Amino acid sequence: MDAEGFATVHPLGDSKHIRILDVVEEAAEMGHRAPIVIRFQDLLRHRVSQINEVFNQAIVEEDYAGSYRGVFPIKVNQLREVVDEIVDAGKEFNYGLEAGSKPELMIALAMHEGNERLLICNGYKDHDYIRLALIGRKLGKQIIIVVEQLSELEDIIRLSAELDVKPLIGFRAKLQTRGEGKWAKSSGDDAKFGLNTAEILIACEKLRRADLEDCLRLVHFHIGSQVPNIITIKNAVIEATRFYCQLAKMGFPIGLLDVGGGLGIDYDGSRSNYESSMNYTMAEYARDVVSSIREICNASGVAAPDIVSESGRAVVAPHSMLVVEVFERINKRESLGKHHHPKTKHKIVSDMEEMLRNQAKLGRLECFHDALQKKEEAFSLFNLGYLDLENRASAEQLFWQICERIASTIKKMGYVPEELHELQKMLADQYVCNFSVFQSLLDHWALKQLFPIAPIHRLNEEPTINATLVDITCDSDGKINSFIDVEDVQDYLQLHPLNNKPYYLGIFLTGAYQDIMGDLHNLFGRVNEAHVFLEDDEPNGFYIEETLNGSRIADVIEGVQYSQSDLCRKMKKQIDAATRKDMIKPREGVRLLDLYEKQMLQKTYLSIERGPARRKKSRK
Ligand SMILES: *Cc1c(COP(=O)(O)O)cnc(C)c1O
Repeated sequence: MDAEGFATVHPLGDSKHIRILDVVEEAAEMGHRAPIVIRFQDLLRHRVSQINEVFNQAIVEEDYAGSYRGVFPIKVNQLREVVDEIVDAGKEFNYGLEAGSKPELMIALAMHEGNERLLICNGYKDHDYIRLALIGRKLGKQIIIVVEQLSELEDIIRLSAELDVKPLIGFRAKLQTRGEGKWAKSSGDDAKFGLNTAEILIACEKLRRADLEDCLRLVHFHIGSQVPNIITIKNAVIEATRFYCQLAKMGFPIGLLDVGGGLGIDYDGSRSNYESSMNYTMAEYARDVVSSIREICNASGVAAPDIVSESGRAVVAPHSMLVVEVFERINKRESLGKHHHPKTKHKIVSDMEEMLRNQAKLGRLECFHDALQKKEEAFSLFNLGYLDLENRASAEQLFWQICERIASTIKKMGYVPEELHELQKMLADQYVCNFSVFQSLLDHWALKQLFPIAPIHRLNEEPTINATLVDITCDSDGKINSFIDVEDVQDYLQLHPLNNKPYYLGIFLTGAYQDIMGDLHNLFGRVNEAHVFLEDDEPNGFYIEETLNGSRIADVIEGVQYSQSDLCRKMKKQIDAATRKDMIKPREGVRLLDLYEKQMLQKTYLSIERGPARRKKSRK
């Protein structure tokens, strides 16, 4: 944040910074309004350098004989601009790529440069997947096919003989060390992937029989993403290094140990082993990986392997963020109105009025219980026919007024009892944001993953409203009501009151997985994007190198098998019929059809038009 209360990004971790709002406003002028994903390309490059540098540093410090040869797992963010930038930034480090499916391998084969960088093939493989990988071998690439299932090995042996090329093979070991947190199911007995110990021995035998012992080049494991605890990582590395050493002693040349993904991101900033956090730094991770491997290899008398990591989340999560615009505040009490005076007041209403007046005499919790009980009583009376609409409205208003009065005193309390905490949650407003959780923040809905969220401006004003966020899908799950906190999880955010000017929230660290896992719920589709570079000579210290259009209505409609022209034709037919019946005038018919056709080319998200400022513009 800067002195004027704007959130800023420091892509290189130094003093050079960009105001996020400047980017949002410039992109809007270019026709790309929020919701918008902003990619800080320098930050992406910076992370690629960082992971390579921390490993290289650890290798020097630990006096390690091997080197670091990282790869970027494409599945974490397949977008061309992202992969392009990573390949380019990784040049000086011989940073490679990892693919987990045929389409990803198609990307990787073409984007991968040179014969020094690794290309690692994971995931389930059919014959064509293996053939594609072997094409890479023919081109001299260091492309390693990791055997996840025993059957794959037979296919690799047969197909490489057919294509007359020597494969490079890796074994994925099913470790007993388990990950933790939300993504823990990639190891242990139930894991989908990997060879158990007996299978590894069978695989070795198969290689021997095919006379391909020198093709086993890599031992691989992956215990899951976002591992919050460094101890788990150390244990997994130790177990895998034992596998490595034993295989090396059996006479396989190997040379590479691949520690998979799992390097975390501290989403909540707590530096803890809570699932949204991590209790280690990237440098500590590198040091622990390097030193664990060194110790065991030394003790076993095995030469130190080159170390591969497939860190995806840690490399790409920080580089992008989503900016959404809040356009509406829903407040339960305000929508009920101030005070309704029934013509003939029921006793329960006068009782509640009395409670509102005399609150100070009772404890807060007692007041709350009394109010709850009266509200329930009012509903029963209504259902039995003893309370009219006016008295019910009045009882509801009074209940919320009592609650609000109780809540207003909570701030001054030290310890807040559970029920009163619930009351605060109940009283929180809802801020309606122009975006879809299902498109842009899928892991929040699916896994309750937490992301840091904050306004990108007005940060020097005190936020006075407690609010949860709701999106614009017609789905009651389309909301955000758990937020990061250093301890525990917060039920609401403290935000600023809306003031008839755009109010933007930033959702941060969204560069891993969220870009691609989103779905078409309610046909909202992709959001706009801006790719930003630092540039000293530009007025605000940056320039937008490229913008991408979010989905237009026609795009998403065609995605579910309608044709734009067919729909327009059908509308025309109905409008013509209505005109013939004189339900609408011909001129009006033309206008209506025009509106329909033009909407096809509009973006799917709300186009928020705001009071006077906006009107002035359209008059020009
Ligand atoms: C998903 C995956 C990764 C990436 O994991 P991160 O935790 O995002 O670094 C690496 N390797 C394999 C095999 C994977 O499936």
